[in-house]
Amino acid sequence: MGQIKLNQVTKSFGDVEVIPPLDLTIEDGEFAVFVGPSGCGKSTLLRLIAGLEDITSGHIEIDGKDATNVPPAKRGLAMVFQSYALYPHMSVRKNIAFPMKMAGIDEAEQQRRIDAAAKALNLTDYLDRRPGQLSGGQRQRVAIGRAIVREPAAFLFDEPLSNLDAALRVGMRLEISELHKRLETTMIYVTHDQVEAMTMADKIVVLRAGHIEQVGSPLELYHSPRNEFVAGFIGSPK
Ligand code: ADP
Ligand code: MG
Repeated sequence: MGQIKLNQVTKSFGDVEVIPPLDLTIEDGEFAVFVGPSGCGKSTLLRLIAGLEDITSGHIEIDGKDATNVPPAKRGLAMVFQSYALYPHMSVRKNIAFPMKMAGIDEAEQQRRIDAAAKALNLTDYLDRRPGQLSGGQRQRVAIGRAIVREPAAFLFDEPLSNLDAALRVGMRLEISELHKRLETTMIYVTHDQVEAMTMADKIVVLRAGHIEQVGSPLELYHSPRNEFVAGFIGSPK
């Protein structure tokens, strides 16, 4: 399960309201992409969902239950960061095992999940290497592996591919889409890249200055952009 619902969620930093009241529902199993220009609030919104930032007002529900005051580790969500944030001194295996160790999962179950994640991500031959001995794409897979083993209700990606070169980005995009098909788990994916949004999303959420300009499938936004901003951002024919 992984339905995420925001009801009248706002966020202010000091006197500055960066997210005005916002309503949004991401359905269980959906691949939702938050897209919009730099500074429009994509990361903030993701961090509010993850619980890494407190919302200023409103409510967040996960699978129909109020999660507004639930701490991040108890929300059942896994965040994948762009800066790989792997432990350089630990092997791939230990990096992937780390969140399970923290959660007190027993060794046999840890091994089972590591093997499954490594297989899904083509990392089986790299489990004993350290992050420094891997390519950028492989490191990004390890970061995803670390999220998978937590068996989250939803994955939250914040521009995970922005550190990779263009060719690698295309491949990783396909891998993440494949993973979504296989796991059928909710994914929320933040990007400022229109191509990523158009090719990966079931649902695109177009953000501008903290508010939602339009929500729809890639085809809906392409054929029926609500305004010039959406049209310009999605690259619709004028
Ligand atoms: P995006 O991810 O779309 O580039 P962000 O969510 O990072 O945008 O930022 C949205 C707005 O909130 C920006 O104006 C940014 O300066 C502001 N902001 C983000 N985090 C903080 C913070 N911790 N303190 C103050 N302002 C912040
Ligand atoms: Mg950001």
